[in-house]
Amino acid sequence: MDRPKRMLVANIAWAREAAARDPQVFTGLAQGQNPHVLWIGCSDSRVPAETITHCEPGDLFVHRNIANLFDPDDDNGASVLEYAVRVLKVGHVIVCGHYGCGGVRAALLPLAPELPHVNRRIAPLCTLAHTHRDELGLLPSEASRVNRLAELNVLEQVRQLRASPIVRGMDKPPLVHGWVFSLEDGRLKVIVDGYSDNPAESTSRAQATLPQAVSNDA
Ligand SMILES: [Zn+2]
Repeated sequence: MDRPKRMLVANIAWAREAAARDPQVFTGLAQGQNPHVLWIGCSDSRVPAETITHCEPGDLFVHRNIANLFDPDDDNGASVLEYAVRVLKVGHVIVCGHYGCGGVRAALLPLAPELPHVNRRIAPLCTLAHTHRDELGLLPSEASRVNRLAELNVLEQVRQLRASPIVRGMDKPPLVHGWVFSLEDGRLKVIVDGYSDNPAESTSRAQATLPQAVSNDA
């Protein structure tokens, strides 16, 4: 059986199991959504937001793209943020990158001429890599440079989100968190703790949190 057919069969089983666990589950979903979290993650197939956090349908409002980038001038991501913050009134925005990210790696390599759309999307990442070229250049391997740039990228996206008029314009702005997922052990690492940083504060404050990044034991 090919993959799409298997997925349709699996869906029947999933729907039955979900209804068996909670007979009201689909009635509730059909009535509307009230997620508390906007998740901005990478499109990478290995980092499915709901799976790695044990979330259920209705828990997360999700935007994923290559290298979990937020560009205030891109209507795709900005519209998701706008709806999540102004209509759904989420209390938290989580930017989640991951180690071994192909989009991040691409920003450290010569641009691939056959991928013009990708190249345009990751241009801010190339700039970020250039800004931090001295620090990255001291690292011993390509893998370590990719992983460090993945962390710096999360930090930068948090900064962009906190600076967004959509976030800053709210009476009670959502907390913006920055996490990185490790493919090695399936664990999330907190790069920016949304609880300890005022959303209105500047990049320098956010950067100051980086050396103290801790494992998320929650
Ligand atoms: Zn990725």
